[in-house]
Amino acid sequence: MAEKRQHPNILITGTPGTGKTQLATRLAEITKMKHINIGKVAAENECYDGYDEALDCKVLDEDKILSCIEADMAKGNNVVDYHGSDFFDEDWFDIVFCLRAEIEVLNKRLEERGYSEEKIKNNLESEIFQVLLEEARDSYDPEIVHQLSSNTLSDVESNLQRISTWIKSWHSDNDT
Ligand code: ADP
Ligand code: MN
Repeated sequence: MAEKRQHPNILITGTPGTGKTQLATRLAEITKMKHINIGKVAAENECYDGYDEALDCKVLDEDKILSCIEADMAKGNNVVDYHGSDFFDEDWFDIVFCLRAEIEVLNKRLEERGYSEEKIKNNLESEIFQVLLEEARDSYDPEIVHQLSSNTLSDVESNLQRISTWIKSWHSDNDT
């Protein structure tokens, strides 16, 4: 059994464009948690293993990513930001939030991001069929997986409030 963490780890997942990086950035500012953006870790450490033509994106070298972040994860106090959730160690996370956005809202954000029509279609389908929510529920105890609406700026504020409250309760349950 690994030694108990002094601080929790949070995973923020969801379809690209739902607002993971925005929420994780704000949360890290407020709480002094470390924001681990997996896309950025991959880019900075060249953690790639080919190219997925169908999805129009680089394929991650998952083992390399895991080894880049495992020391931080063991310490706790991280907010991890990634659309996938199935390749992390299950016991790394104390809670998982899956951001959800309405299709029209997401469509607009992905257009603004300059994604191809094909890539937008794939991502909207993924949101409609809640692919990443199911992935999170399959990868972790479904009881720790929560959906958060991420359509408006006031959603961001209420999500920050909710997560901050959860962190406080984690400490009152776990601090000795
Ligand atoms: P992700 O990291 O999930 O791909 P981002 O955090 O990069 O998404 O957000 C995508 C875009 O949508 C950004 O321009 C961001 O400012 C905007 N955005 C994200 N969440 C919200 C929200 N809840 N309300 C309004 N705009 C948002
Ligand atoms: Mn992002």
